[in-house]
Amino acid sequence: MIITIDGPAGAGKSTVAKLLAQRLGFRFLDTGAMYRAVTWAALKQGVDIHDHDSVATVANEIEIAFVGKSVIVNGQDVTTEIRTPYVTSGVSEIADNATVRESLVHLQREIAADGNFVCEGRDQGTVVFPTAECKIFLTASPEERAERRHRQMVKSGEEVSLEEVLTQQEERDRRDQTRPVGRLLKAEDAIEYITDDKTLESIIEDLIEIAKPLIATSG
Ligand code: C5P
Repeated sequence: MIITIDGPAGAGKSTVAKLLAQRLGFRFLDTGAMYRAVTWAALKQGVDIHDHDSVATVANEIEIAFVGKSVIVNGQDVTTEIRTPYVTSGVSEIADNATVRESLVHLQREIAADGNFVCEGRDQGTVVFPTAECKIFLTASPEERAERRHRQMVKSGEEVSLEEVLTQQEERDRRDQTRPVGRLLKAEDAIEYITDDKTLESIIEDLIEIAKPLIATSG
């Protein structure tokens, strides 16, 4: 069975999806990490991220493995590096590339082909797994999302103001919502869940309540 969790940056998707998977005994697929992995590989190989065809080749040849909590790309552990501002600043360009998306959508379907998965991203319920049994669209107000992201960045030692985070977030939202393929969109049959003012534990409890009957009927 597949549970999809889509939504904008900073809504708490990764934390929620990871914990939900753990509680349900499902595996977790972080598709944002895959776009980050292609960005990292392109930068590492000195490929111009605006060069559509060269980046498509990088995506076509890439080997991505999720091993425990680590992300391994072409044999190298890149778990920390794919979260650096250097990679983050290039990832939207890579995610706009329709050929890259085609390769990653194919890989995502392959990874989740058997077993129970919580798949997290932007297009999981709309493009990658349109027949998923349970679809969640997780969101929060722009201010709440920026504050959350700002806290995380400060905690990991980055010097950045809340205003800068909000501006970067607006740009990522705009790109996520306007890209020609795989844009961020709530699937018609997804349940929208707003995380403002909610604790992580209450979000997980609510999502388990939503998922439970669907798990029971999925066989
Ligand atoms: O979720 P995360 O911030 O790690 O995603 C990195 C980038 O990858 C996002 O900015 C988004 O543009 C892109 N992405 C995407 N489709 C997905 C997952 C992520 O376009 N399914």
